[in-house]
Formats: sequence, C-alpha cells, structure tokens
Amino acid sequence: MHTEINGITIEVVKKNIKNMHLYVRPPDGRVQVSAPKHLTDEAVLMFVRSKIGWIKKQQLKFENQPRQSQRQYVSGESFYVLGKQYYLQVEYSYKCNSLVLSGEKAILTVRKESTPKQREAYVREWYREILKAEIEKYLPEWEKKTGLYCNEWQTKYMVTRWGTCNANTGKLWFNLQLAKKTRECIEYIILHELAHLKVKNHGVEFVAIMDYYMPYWREIKRKLNEQILDYFETV
Ligand SMILES: [Zn+2]
Repeated sequence: MHTEINGITIEVVKKNIKNMHLYVRPPDGRVQVSAPKHLTDEAVLMFVRSKIGWIKKQQLKFENQPRQSQRQYVSGESFYVLGKQYYLQVEYSYKCNSLVLSGEKAILTVRKESTPKQREAYVREWYREILKAEIEKYLPEWEKKTGLYCNEWQTKYMVTRWGTCNANTGKLWFNLQLAKKTRECIEYIILHELAHLKVKNHGVEFVAIMDYYMPYWREIKRKLNEQILDYFETV
C-alpha cells in the first residue's frame, strides 16, 4: 500500500512481525513502514503521523548530507541539459568560467586547479539560469490555462523532490536538477505544483486537475522518476 501524509509518500508493507518498523531510506529519504499483519491501515497511519517530525528530520539529514561526488567534471563525462545528452569537454583558462553547448559537446572552461566541487558550484548556477528561463516561459502559460497563480517561485538544489509548494504563501520551489530533464518533465512539475495551490494532497481532486490539463502526466512522471537524481556534495 502507498499512502501520503503531509506530502510525504509512505510505503506500507504488512508482514508477519510483532512490532511496527519505520524506515527513512537513503539516499532519497523514502519512507517505508513494516507493520504486523493484524493491524488496520488506520492504526498504521496513526503511528506514522505521530512520527512525522522524526521523518522530516531524517529526510533533512539526507538532504544536507555530504555525498560522494559521482562527477569529477572531467572530459568525457556525460552531461544532460533539457533532456539532451552532451559530453563534457573540459578546457582551462584563468579568465572567467564558461559552459558552452556545441553539437554534442558541453565545453566547460575552468581554472586548471579547480576542484570538482568548485566546478560543480559553477555548473549548478549555470543550470539555474537554464531552468529559470524555462520556468519564466512555461509557468505563465500554465497559470493562464489553469487559473492557478503562484505569488512567487524560486529554484533550489534538492535531492528528495522535484518541486514543492507552500499553498499558504503561494510560493513554489523547483529543483535545479530539472534543468537536466525534458521540457515536458519541467511542464509536468510546474502543473503539479500549481495544482497544489488548490489541493494540498495527491487525492482524487488533485488527480482530476492533472488528468484534465495533462492527460498523459502518468507517463511523464514515470519517465522522470526512472532516472534517479544525481547527488553532489553540498557546496
Ligand atoms: Zn505533490
């Protein structure tokens, strides 16, 4: 069974066990509950609800955890921009950093002695500009289509979710890593977060909004979640 509490997806597995076990799994902060077979779903959910504070703390820990950098930012590494794959070509210069897409290449110019972490910091800001331009283009369109308007939005590096919505303040956050994904993925997240301005959970009413405006959203969601998010050390 999958359920959702306060925007957190929870996977419940009933087993032949005596006590309930709650897990927040690295690296993405997935929540799993193992519960004795005889317990009702209601009792399980009550238990999980009482642990929400703890779950959030664990998830935050994963989000802030320094991680083994998978990328070294050296030539030959693959590099995704708006769903298209490029290959990194690293060049050295003592003038300013730059990143230019050319054919299949993503030419990153940095100081020779820069660390992967410093290169990552530069690339992250580069991705931010890409994503901001996409959102500036598509968000107003979706606001107009749906009649759901946010008060403000920002981009943020996250490892557990693609976007978040604070329905009380009307503010949306978009994960910087969306800049690596296709435009349809970005539009899907835009619509998803706008829908949360009206409906906080992912219940029937929420699904109805998604179905109405983007009938193929399940397919996009599947594609989006097939690729696990990259993890970098926090800069
Ligand atoms: Zn959501």
